Amino acid sequence: MLRLENITKRFGPIVANDRISLEVRAGEVLALLGENGAGKTTLVSLLYGLYAPDEGRILLEGRPVQIPSPKAAQALGIALVPQHPELIEAHTVAENLALGLDLPFLLPRRALVRRLKALLAGHPLGVDLEAPVHLLSAGEKQRVEILRALLAKPKVLILDEPTSVLTPQEAEGLFQEIARYKAMGLAVIFISHKLDEVLRVADRIAVLRGGRKVGEVPREKADRDLLVRLMVGREV
Ligand code: ATP
Repeated sequence: MLRLENITKRFGPIVANDRISLEVRAGEVLALLGENGAGKTTLVSLLYGLYAPDEGRILLEGRPVQIPSPKAAQALGIALVPQHPELIEAHTVAENLALGLDLPFLLPRRALVRRLKALLAGHPLGVDLEAPVHLLSAGEKQRVEILRALLAKPKVLILDEPTSVLTPQEAEGLFQEIARYKAMGLAVIFISHKLDEVLRVADRIAVLRGGRKVGEVPREKADRDLLVRLMVGREV
């Protein structure tokens, strides 16, 4: 579905992503694992049109694509659930979702909620669409970001450190959701620095360190020891 070939991104003398090649298929969860500073956020930013790569190509369904902006990413079917929700706190959930969709903002409140429920049919909402965002918990705000991502009917869903704001119980719910996305045929990129959750949720694990991909392991061949060695310094 999505393929990166030799992607390089520099910030002055820092090589944040150094010739990274990756692939994520439809119906698969690829975890990007790495410590702080490994280059995960930079890679996500490239995929979401926040930066342009200095070198390398991004291919979607076999075709090279340019992603000059988040809008372009969305149009291509790439959705991002950011690590920290980027919602308008004073607005309701429904209003935030409508903004993402370019639905008429002044649609009567009930009509807007009806429309959103229809568009999200098949997905558990998990949050009151009429609640003002500032009253929601961190986990509920993330849920709004996930709903916003799903409304765009993406082919590729990127979850950036999604469990950092969740309780263990909420995280478990998210892992079950992710299994559903796989069954729907989405390609999921799951960013994390937590070994246990990566082992729980991923089909394949790509490990980044110092801007480079230092290993890629299918889930069935991965264990904590191997992943730690890759994360902290021994290459395989
Ligand atoms: P974290 O989990 O802390 O976000 P990360 O794995 O996502 O870490 P990046 O944020 O991608 O890592 O950072 C990779 C390297 O690039 C780091 O050395 C970081 O300091 C550097 N870097 C990232 N963004 C910028 C920027 N806008 N300007 C300069 N250097 C940057």
